[in-house]
Amino acid sequence: MASQTKIPKHNHYIFLKITLFMTALLAGKITPRKLWNVFMCSTAYVFQWKKSAVAPFILSLELWNECNAGCLFCRDAKGRIYNIDPQAPSLGSISKGKMPVEMAMDIIDQVKKDVLIAVLYTNGEPLLYKDLGRIIRCATERKVMTMISTNGLLFNEQNARDILGAGIDCIKIQLGGFTQDIYGIQIRYGEVEKLKSNIRMVAKLKKETGSQALILIDWITYNYNRHQIPLIRQFCKDNGLLLSFRQGNPRGGLEGKETPLPSKTLNMSCDWLWKAMQFNFNGDVLQCCEGVIWSGVKPYTTYKTGESKVKDIWNGPQATATRRLMAAKGRSSMPICKQCQRQGVCFKW
Ligand code: SF4
Repeated sequence: MASQTKIPKHNHYIFLKITLFMTALLAGKITPRKLWNVFMCSTAYVFQWKKSAVAPFILSLELWNECNAGCLFCRDAKGRIYNIDPQAPSLGSISKGKMPVEMAMDIIDQVKKDVLIAVLYTNGEPLLYKDLGRIIRCATERKVMTMISTNGLLFNEQNARDILGAGIDCIKIQLGGFTQDIYGIQIRYGEVEKLKSNIRMVAKLKKETGSQALILIDWITYNYNRHQIPLIRQFCKDNGLLLSFRQGNPRGGLEGKETPLPSKTLNMSCDWLWKAMQFNFNGDVLQCCEGVIWSGVKPYTTYKTGESKVKDIWNGPQATATRRLMAAKGRSSMPICKQCQRQGVCFKW
């Protein structure tokens, strides 16, 4: 029987944000200065100022864009990432690489007093990055929240203890099927029973270690998996996990089964330019996370560890010019923005 659960077109994860905020407050990770920074970023966005606050309140770091799961919408069977820039070849033009751990720690350290959260993944699977725990620990020591989104397939007791012990604040685990026949429609390489056992293990370890991390199951909803929603509800209840729903990405072999993506340009400005800062694995500073899969976008600059200044880039000439363009002409002023359906600073789908 199909579930009656209503799936919003865009999930703004309000409950998650409030819970995360309260947890961070209790952990001493929210200060008046950080709240002021959020307020100033938001004010700059509302008034579309060319300069934002002194720093972004979200850092988004692509630690490594490699992935083990091979989701159909993301990359082909050989692991080549789809380029969403229609002017470039669809495959083979997005290069892969790892961000040096020193770069990630330098970026976090520079804005530790202003930034609320460091999001430690963009397109890749963060559990593949062996120094993930070190970066989380660095952020925790500097009172910066951290979160990852993971396919969960690579969890083992060692890496789970490592990141929970390092003080991670939120682990979002994507799931799009409760049985292998359904899960395997979107995920090329992964066994759902192994994933479920990993999730149970992480939930148990969280209790054992006293970690305050929020563990959220992010159910990616397609027409083909709606009937399994009651199963995932029960699973989350049994394991004390948060559950959230979002629309799936129909790209990559699912077009025939699912409604196509909307194509009209949104008639609204974009929060990203005023609130969040995106670093690609090679240090390229991009206007947003879409840039990591759009080869034609020009970075604001390329970050150099020990030399670059995050705050100078944030309100530097390239960033202010991009904001000015968005403020004056909207999304249609830039090809990357023209096709973008993002609303707010949130997950894409
Ligand atoms: S509209 Fe989309 S592509 Fe443009 S800056 Fe915002 S998130 Fe990025």
